[in-house]
Amino acid sequence: MRKIKPSQMGFSLLLSVGFVLACNTIIRPDVPTAGPTIQPTEVPFTIEPPISGDAQSGSPGLGDSLYPGFGNGGYDTKSYILDITVTDVISSNLDAVTTIQAVATQDLSRFNLDFAGFEVTSLTVNEEAAEFERKGQELTVIPSQPLNNGDEFIVVVEYQGIPNSMESQALPFPTGWIVYEGGIFVLSEPDGSASFYPVNDHPLDKAIYTIIVTVPKPYEVAANGVLEETKDNGDTTTYQFKVRDPMASYLTTININDFDLETMESENGVPIRNYYAASLPDKISEPFARQGEMIDYFSGIFGEYPFEVYGALVMDTEFGAALENQTMSIFGIDMVDTEDLEGTEAVVAHELVHQWFGDSVSVADWSDIWLNEGFATYGEGLWVEHLYGNKGLDEWVTGLYEEVSAYPEFYPPPGSPAADDLFNGGVYLRGGLTLHALRLTVGDEVFFETLKVYYDRYKFGNAVTEDFMQVAEEISGKDLTDLFDAWLYDEQLPPLP
Ligand SMILES: [Zn+2]
Repeated sequence: MRKIKPSQMGFSLLLSVGFVLACNTIIRPDVPTAGPTIQPTEVPFTIEPPISGDAQSGSPGLGDSLYPGFGNGGYDTKSYILDITVTDVISSNLDAVTTIQAVATQDLSRFNLDFAGFEVTSLTVNEEAAEFERKGQELTVIPSQPLNNGDEFIVVVEYQGIPNSMESQALPFPTGWIVYEGGIFVLSEPDGSASFYPVNDHPLDKAIYTIIVTVPKPYEVAANGVLEETKDNGDTTTYQFKVRDPMASYLTTININDFDLETMESENGVPIRNYYAASLPDKISEPFARQGEMIDYFSGIFGEYPFEVYGALVMDTEFGAALENQTMSIFGIDMVDTEDLEGTEAVVAHELVHQWFGDSVSVADWSDIWLNEGFATYGEGLWVEHLYGNKGLDEWVTGLYEEVSAYPEFYPPPGSPAADDLFNGGVYLRGGLTLHALRLTVGDEVFFETLKVYYDRYKFGNAVTEDFMQVAEEISGKDLTDLFDAWLYDEQLPPLP
């Protein structure tokens, strides 16, 4: 994610390469929402006692250190089919069916999904009607027959109503399914997905997705993955997208508007499709023209681009953020300044780098968010280095360091963010500087080998900070404990090595 906050002195710094760094604090987007905002469920939860035989209740949380209630235990999802009919875009009335294929990882008498709002009209497990209970964001499913550890099972939830955007503990603005006067967009990090489908909502439980959305004409749909089929139903159109690789739930996106579609390919053959809200001027595409060059450049540094396709989507509304949804990064119009090409290209590079770090290698615990944001921020620096060489990078790093030193209250140590300030400036800028400090300590060759090995070892999976530290120590043969401790956890900003 990339966020901006105007009105703070020193929050934009102009580097001598003409590079504007829009820093990472938040503006509250002024977006109308379809309904009241849901408050997150209170934690802690307790595990219910077994009710029959050895069958147990799945935990209503996955034990995240910052957000223990996110996700659910006792099963592992393999695939989701989201089949959503938007009967009216302006009121955002939905008629939907979510089909989840999962495997029990313990005996289960009941298990939870994360889901907010809507009327659930039918719920089956393995084609048999199941009882269910709802409390806050928790949907508890009680199958007619307990499930055994290792059983594959299929849950089908039918529901209807108007989605509520979510108020996350982590962010001061609504997330999830957002309706505005031009259309609908979805921005769900970290826990907004439950606003439009029942889900095991934690990056630890990735799955593949089929996303089917039916909208009234003349609206169009853009979602993750590859558009497999478009069906004309007369008054409505159905779009079917397929996501090839496992995806963390917070990266699911569905966007509805009238779009201009732009397609191209990187030189190395990665297909790119960009969607721009049709009301936007043609020049809105300019900051995205170099995405192919960026994909091939970063593929050379980190490893092959992870996914089947990439692209950007720009909505014709301000929401103070850009988000790296898997295969489709989305941008609020306030994140795209066609008068500041290099500044906007930095954001474009940032979201692209997340496809490796964030989307393919995902956090195993939200407290390790610097593994996403520090890496994506340093990716902006690597792009500057690509354009302007060592001197450009040095100036970029100096600018970052001066910013963090001047406003320490905005840049806390990146390794231990607070639950109500997950996307603080420290996880971005000081996180990026942590990588540069490592580079200066171990040298370029070892540093870039470390990035490659770390990516290769954890791609399409999850990692924690210790995993990255271990790879860095393994490749360098050095004890790097003091370096990481100082940069990630000390209140005091360390000097650059
Ligand atoms: Zn980011």
